[in-house]
Amino acid sequence: MAKKQFAVIGLGRFGVSVARKLMEARHDVLGIDIRDEKVEDVEQYFTHAAVADATEEKALTALGVRNFECVIVAIGNDIQSSILTTMLLKNLGVQKIIAKAVSKRHGQVLEKIGVDWIIYPEKDMGERVAKQLLSPNVLNY
Ligand code: ATP
Repeated sequence: MAKKQFAVIGLGRFGVSVARKLMEARHDVLGIDIRDEKVEDVEQYFTHAAVADATEEKALTALGVRNFECVIVAIGNDIQSSILTTMLLKNLGVQKIIAKAVSKRHGQVLEKIGVDWIIYPEKDMGERVAKQLLSPNVLNY
């Protein structure tokens, strides 16, 4: 697979695990978080890492986020920041936006904005676990 450029906004557990897997697959990853300690924790593993408020258009522009093939918005609990950030990314013309939603309503708003793939971490993982348990290849408990 050709090397791709990803940006991950929000370096909580979800954002970091997505970014780590992308790095392991030898893609370029820019990690962004508003908190310096989050950036300090990961900067040695990522291609680039920056402290920035993703709700500020100037910050996203300065980081060249519009040139990334795919941007993952991994901000969840701060719904306002998640929505503002995804709107800015859409306005900047980012090709593919993936965003985490913490509730059905949050997901509905992200859908309206035009997010390409909305992830509900707990719900999606719960469904995946059930699917695996129901697979004929899984041992009976
Ligand atoms: P997770 O469940 O993935 O561990 P979390 O519980 O740490 O996430 P979230 O509210 O989902 O909390 O935030 C994920 C990350 O997004 C945090 O590290 C937070 O600092 C970051 N973040 C929040 N707002 C912004 C923003 N405006 N710009 C950049 N990063 C932000």
